[in-house]
Amino acid sequence: MKRRIAALVFIVMVLSLFGCLHPIDPLKPEGEDTYSSESSSHFSESSFSEQSSSVPEVISSLPPEDKSSEITPPDPSLKELKKGDKGEEVLRMQERLKEMNWLFGEADGEYGTRTEEAVFRFQKHNGLEETGSADVYTLDLLYSDRAEKYLPLKGLKIGIDPGHQKKGNYEKEPVAPGSETMKTKVSSGTAGVVSRVPEYKVVLIVGLRLKELLENFGATVIMTREVNEVDLSNIDRAKIFNEAETDYAIRLHCNGSEDPTMYGVSVLIPKTHAMKDECRKAAEYLLASFCDVTKERNRGIKERREQTGFNWCERMIINIEMGYMSNEEDDLKLTDSEYQEKMCWGILYGIVSYFENSN
Ligand SMILES: [Zn+2]
Repeated sequence: MKRRIAALVFIVMVLSLFGCLHPIDPLKPEGEDTYSSESSSHFSESSFSEQSSSVPEVISSLPPEDKSSEITPPDPSLKELKKGDKGEEVLRMQERLKEMNWLFGEADGEYGTRTEEAVFRFQKHNGLEETGSADVYTLDLLYSDRAEKYLPLKGLKIGIDPGHQKKGNYEKEPVAPGSETMKTKVSSGTAGVVSRVPEYKVVLIVGLRLKELLENFGATVIMTREVNEVDLSNIDRAKIFNEAETDYAIRLHCNGSEDPTMYGVSVLIPKTHAMKDECRKAAEYLLASFCDVTKERNRGIKERREQTGFNWCERMIINIEMGYMSNEEDDLKLTDSEYQEKMCWGILYGIVSYFENSN
């Protein structure tokens, strides 16, 4: 190994004399990713961290690598794919994009807008030409072991509060710090008009699945509860997020109304809060994404001043009311496992797109 490094250093010195160092990176370990992301460090990992200590001085003064010069000739069997294409090859590409977190949608064999976005995202993060069309260089990298998994939530702490609990605690607590207005600590929530399934169960199922998805996208997840048998007031829940210093906190709820025809999803945000603007922005992304994935009716964003869980929380926080358990159709959806999966993806995309569009 020593002889090899010495020989490489010698080659580097000779080449530098002729001014042709540029495309050579002699210490790059074999098989390591040559396409480290160019996006902000927040969204990417460096591919060079482990090697830096053994790099001699002369190497560290090399100019930044030029990725285009390192692209190897693509596999000749690859065929360019573009929007509008259909079939097996599109499906294969989508499955790979999905496996690596680049595709936010179904692998259905049709190259539509979501697939185009996924390819664009992949190209952007890899310093490739950003066209949204899968040219052979894009495909070559995507199928190779050099392709990186997309981890847009890496380094972020996301708080999830599945609302309510099996047995409500009807003692009182102040609705806000310093307030004399008292509110019930925590109720047991509503229940399905047809399914009879309680809200606290639905929101925990969604919360636990959402946790898995968020972690797969790089997040650290802080749950207020992972079982139904707890005794946690709304102040307790807010304090969990404060102590963990979450970057984004979401309260999961289902709605109930005396009017059985009411249906749809809404997102609640605090009326007074230090991070109110951020809460609104997060709510906008969340609602758009949730409705896009689930096709549920968008009932908009509503401000609330009486939520203990908002008022005690010092972190950015929102509350999704995923549907009305008092509405027959919504109830059957909210308690259906396939629809629950859709809701989780809708929430995940909403959170990812908020951070993708924040700096
Ligand atoms: Zn609720």
